[in-house]
Amino acid sequence: MTETSERRADTAPRWSIAIHGGAGSMRPETMDAAAQAAHEAGLRAALDAGRAVLATGGAALDAVGAAVAVLEDDPLFNAGRGSVFTYNGINELDAAVMDGTTRQAGAVAGVTHVRNPVRLARAVMEQSPHVLLAGAGAEEFAREQAIELVDPDWFATEERWRQLQELKAKKLGWFDDGLKYGTVGAVACDSHGHVAAATSTGGLTGKRWNRIGDSPVIGAGTYADDRAGAVSCTGSGEQFIRAGVAHEICARMRLAGESAQGAADAVLAEVGAMRGVGGVIVVTPAGETVFAFTTPGMFRGRADHAGLYETGIFGMAGSKD
Ligand code: ASP
Repeated sequence: MTETSERRADTAPRWSIAIHGGAGSMRPETMDAAAQAAHEAGLRAALDAGRAVLATGGAALDAVGAAVAVLEDDPLFNAGRGSVFTYNGINELDAAVMDGTTRQAGAVAGVTHVRNPVRLARAVMEQSPHVLLAGAGAEEFAREQAIELVDPDWFATEERWRQLQELKAKKLGWFDDGLKYGTVGAVACDSHGHVAAATSTGGLTGKRWNRIGDSPVIGAGTYADDRAGAVSCTGSGEQFIRAGVAHEICARMRLAGESAQGAADAVLAEVGAMRGVGGVIVVTPAGETVFAFTTPGMFRGRADHAGLYETGIFGMAGSKD
């Protein structure tokens, strides 16, 4: 974790943002300097997009959407372009967004032509009476909403294809639960104290049967509530769904008065008891940002009104920073 800016006097309106680019098995000894630098640059571009919204008085909801869209377009991360492949060799994308003020939410699952699923999730929230749309219906809605559609080739990268072939060659199991890291997410608190969360993913390499993970499941991979905070998750989606991770963290903060870090660590421990691993980012309405993860690394970053600006990849499992 590197802090690159000096903290300023606390006169500007308060805001903060945290992002993740997926939890996984990244270690300094297995990731070369060029790859580290490329991922950090991607994280900074996303942070900058979110920061630009918040620093000019924009809404947390807009900030998380802007940050996640940047990561969706970055082929290094497992969301949008650069998503992992299903067993059948296609990219099926999931995303969600939630507004902590109204607790309105929108999500999409299993879309194959939507360039920025996070934008479609927001349209579901604002332009439909529903919360979660899937597959062909979600894409029909995207066309009606004039959301950008692309040829599926847009999402495909050689590295993700190689990962699928490796999985098949090793006959590792149902899918890659070793986590081919890269799911992306953002949480933000704006200058009005409103929070929001967004998450986007290609899911797990080798997934089959239209498998849907935690990311688009409101309360599992994504949740926001101004009374507690906003959470975006990455990790073993099945266990994150079973533990209702994002809602559970918010519930512990709201009802039991736990700190964001305490709640995040406790709920990840519950996931661990189910043999799941992963990470979360949390922001509170007071602007505190927290990271927690039980994998060797998690791509992450955060910024705030006072000049905090940092990104990180590695860390002690379960540590905050
Ligand atoms: N949680 C995502 C899923 O299960 C995967 C990830 O975070 O890497 O779809």
